[in-house]
Amino acid sequence: MKKFHIAYCIASLLAASDEAIAEAVSGGTVEEMRGSLKAMLDDGIEFLTIADCDNTHKNGSCAGHEAADELG
Ligand SMILES: [Zn+2]
Repeated sequence: MKKFHIAYCIASLLAASDEAIAEAVSGGTVEEMRGSLKAMLDDGIEFLTIADCDNTHKNGSCAGHEAADELG
């Protein structure tokens, strides 16, 4: 059985309020994060995993991990 990282839908994040974005992602100002999210969408990345994920689909969502893996 596989485990999956939870991922945000980037389009939904972009539609969310500044407060919601600030809570969901970190690493800069809300304006910077909106810019980063838009750039990801432009690259065809639709999802942003919450934890570090080393096995993502092309669209950014988690492709799954064997259950033995420790998930952060
Ligand atoms: Zn993952």
